[in-house]
Amino acid sequence: MTFLSLLTGSFSTPAAENPTVAMVEAAYKAMGLDARYINCDVQPQGLGDAVKGARAMGWRGFNCSLPHKVSVIQHLDGLAESAQLIGAVNCVVERDGRWIGENTDGQGFVSSLRTVIDPNGKRMVVLGAGGAARAIAVESMLAGVSEITIVNRNPERGQELAALVKGSFAPWDGTYTVGDVDIVVNATSIGLAPDENTPDVDGLRAGLVVADVIPNPPKTRFLQAAQQQGATTLDGIGMLVEQAVIAIRHWTGREPDPALMRTTVETLFA
Ligand code: NDP
Repeated sequence: MTFLSLLTGSFSTPAAENPTVAMVEAAYKAMGLDARYINCDVQPQGLGDAVKGARAMGWRGFNCSLPHKVSVIQHLDGLAESAQLIGAVNCVVERDGRWIGENTDGQGFVSSLRTVIDPNGKRMVVLGAGGAARAIAVESMLAGVSEITIVNRNPERGQELAALVKGSFAPWDGTYTVGDVDIVVNATSIGLAPDENTPDVDGLRAGLVVADVIPNPPKTRFLQAAQQQGATTLDGIGMLVEQAVIAIRHWTGREPDPALMRTTVETLFA
């Protein structure tokens, strides 16, 4: 039995209702893999021991979520390019006895984005400058986006990310009006159930691709508003599924079924 597992910071959701656990286990089953994806509740002070335990038990790798995405780095043997640039790891892979940190969040976003638009040469606005925004901005830059504007409430955080991706920063102190761009991404936590607020943004219109990182609810108020204005929309389930598809590829070298994974998540969020 090979374990391909999850190290997370908390058990806020029972495993059967955790969308990542549910979709990865469904994918393994459909692939006929003798493997499990389990949720382990690891406190920050136990992270080093947990990683040693994963090595000792011969795991092929694991995901890690907040609050471990940065602190896990000190326990690894190396970082892939994206994880190095982003400065955070959400996926660890065993390669020839070395534990390498990957970041599949931004890659998952770009993979989902490609289903509606090729980012190469496009102009993008990213709302937010937290972990998700950082992963998305870095990966979009690597995918050839021609211009990135980071819009954030906290200016220091926003400016730092804008500098990292050689983009520009726009302050967010009131309504932000979307200018002459191709893609707008809500990479903040605004809109997540149960609050379901919406970012204070104007200028959504036909011709734009409007994406949201929020997977639950899938059709956020932000996406509903964008759709009403005629924009093409992209929900956060796409990113969630695609980051897991890339992780499974890293761990197994095989292709899972993204449609099955999406249906599994949709059932939980219905
Ligand atoms: P962080 O806490 O690192 O960042 C949160 C961001 O949201 C910051 O830019 C923060 O701004 C901004 N923000 C929060 N509240 C407000 C507000 N009221 N007004 C303006 N800005 C606000 O979180 P993450 O980046 O890790 O996660 C963000 C969201 O992305 C989460 O909801 C998470 O569920 C989702 N996510 C989805 C994934 C997927 O696969 N679909 C993968 C990863 C994350 P400031 O800097 O000013 O505080």
